[in-house]
Amino acid sequence: MCIICIDLAKQKLTSAEGRRALGEMRGQLDAAHVAEVEQKLADAEKLADPAKRP
Ligand SMILES: [Zn+2]
Repeated sequence: MCIICIDLAKQKLTSAEGRRALGEMRGQLDAAHVAEVEQKLADAEKLADPAKRP
């Protein structure tokens, strides 16, 4: 868990803001967690855009 996960969970962060934050924090997070955050952002984008929902 990092600040991005916490704010995404609280819906205080949009996926676009999350991607920007991830770009800044990428060097401080381990690779596995970066992948996890990217997955969460992808899920958030799907929810934000009904056209991308399965
Ligand atoms: Zn995290």
